[in-house]
Amino acid sequence: MLDITVQVFAGGYKSAPADFGRVREKLEDVLNRIPATRVIMGWTPAPELYGRVRDFLRQRGVEFFLWLPVFSETGRMKPCVPVTDWAGGTAAGNADGAEEDFAFLCPNEPQNVRAALSVFNENFANIGFDGVFLDRIRYPSFAAGADAGFGCFCPRCREAYTRAGADTTALMRGQGRIFDDPAWRDFLKIKAQSVTESVGALCGELRNRGFKIGLDVFAPFLSRFVGQDIPALSRLADFVKPMMYRKTFAPAGIPFEWDALKLRTGISPPFAPDLDFCAGDLAELVKSADCPVYAGVEWNRVPGIARPTPGYIHESLGAYAAAGARGFVLSWNALDAPLENTAAAAQWLNHRAGR
Ligand SMILES: [Zn+2]
Repeated sequence: MLDITVQVFAGGYKSAPADFGRVREKLEDVLNRIPATRVIMGWTPAPELYGRVRDFLRQRGVEFFLWLPVFSETGRMKPCVPVTDWAGGTAAGNADGAEEDFAFLCPNEPQNVRAALSVFNENFANIGFDGVFLDRIRYPSFAAGADAGFGCFCPRCREAYTRAGADTTALMRGQGRIFDDPAWRDFLKIKAQSVTESVGALCGELRNRGFKIGLDVFAPFLSRFVGQDIPALSRLADFVKPMMYRKTFAPAGIPFEWDALKLRTGISPPFAPDLDFCAGDLAELVKSADCPVYAGVEWNRVPGIARPTPGYIHESLGAYAAAGARGFVLSWNALDAPLENTAAAAQWLNHRAGR
């Protein structure tokens, strides 16, 4: 039995929250068609909205998770330490308008972990969530620019590279030659250790208070470039959701990140991340993960950004289930999922369940 989660973007920290009536209407339609066990919603600080959605979901026996961004967005709520580039400047990343903020904070900086926890404590701790779904648990990607993708060189990160024996001077000199210098392998490994450590600290605090944990991660083949060791992270979580977004041209979207990686590093790998490649990539992760892997498949349509179709949803669910995914997270905003995509997902899932 596949485990199905539905994700809802109800607004960012600085945008107006979605209307409860609209959220309820959409969730009613989706849950009537699809036997989902969990809804993830975030991250607008709107306690009344969450309270009403919580009551609605409880009546239906559906779990409710908060969607909480960690190493970006938090800077809009609390003083935080940004990622530093190799020349000592701020590698700001792209703050793309009012809705979402992709300016990245250093994952190695305890102040940033404390800030994320404070945001949770002050806005979300008493709403009655079953769990917390942590997003942006990474360093910035090359989509945020070369300097951001090759960060972070803040004093703490530099100290971590030195402690682990990486040649920091070679790293800073070798910017742009990521694959022909062994120093870069150490660099990526240490970045991943920093993320795992900080996320571990956050998960420990949340688990002590009884919250379950889900983690939003990049597609496995892209994850190493942003400091995500997904098998290590999977030991901290109840599930991980690799974002297998092949129709998204925005951060975390596979074609978007792939183009940025090639452009900023100058590499030209001898393969394309098509469906077969992505299914194989996911199958490898399923073998090495310590918790269930739920494939993130986008079904919302956003002009110029996301354009999944019913055919895309069918082929994605089919290939990732065959690759061993234990479930799906229908991402990332049910409110923008067109009816034909909801119907396509429902049809595939119900057929699979023999209904
Ligand atoms: Zn740093």
